[in-house]
Amino acid sequence: MPSNRRRTNRNEGNGGAAAAVRQPAIRDHVRAVLAAIGEDPAREGLEKTPERVEKAFSFLTQGYAQDVGALLTQALFTVDYDEMVIIKDIDVFSMCEHHLLPFFGRAHVAYLPKGKVVGLSKIPRLVDAFARRLQVQERLTVQIAEAIQQHVKPRGVGVVIEAMHLCMIMRGVEKQNSVAVTSCMLGGFREKLQTREEFLSLIKKKHGGLG
Ligand SMILES: [Zn+2]
Repeated sequence: MPSNRRRTNRNEGNGGAAAAVRQPAIRDHVRAVLAAIGEDPAREGLEKTPERVEKAFSFLTQGYAQDVGALLTQALFTVDYDEMVIIKDIDVFSMCEHHLLPFFGRAHVAYLPKGKVVGLSKIPRLVDAFARRLQVQERLTVQIAEAIQQHVKPRGVGVVIEAMHLCMIMRGVEKQNSVAVTSCMLGGFREKLQTREEFLSLIKKKHGGLG
């Protein structure tokens, strides 16, 4: 599990003796949080909650252990196609690093191939690899774009994410339906207005008969 790997790495830095010191598991901390908010961690409904939260956190942060370079480079194909490739409406579920509350929505990813394309299914997996970490939406957007630029080496990349943040909505900081929109445009998407507009107009279109 990724959380274990991170703990191990930290212990290595402290020398061998520190590795023998047991780090409290996430479940122990969750039990302490439950007690701190005035709950009884031993009552029936909460008895297994610390373990469940630990499992959920391991799942929701598994992106730290994923090698996005390997994910993309193992599925590169040489093609004679240089038009825009767009994968739109990719589900995004992530957690805001300021409140540890979810934000979720859709990502739209496009690139202009330069001799190589990446397997289509890898793009949603790339989004997950960065979303399953503690994030801010702006950084998530940039990381997806830069990973494609670095490993697929296209003529340009565009990424747009539209998301709702529970830390805003639940705390009443913003109106119920406000959506945060972030974008990152690299290469041709940054330099050419026409390319950028083509991408933005295509992601606004509703599915024809496919949706
Ligand atoms: Zn937040």
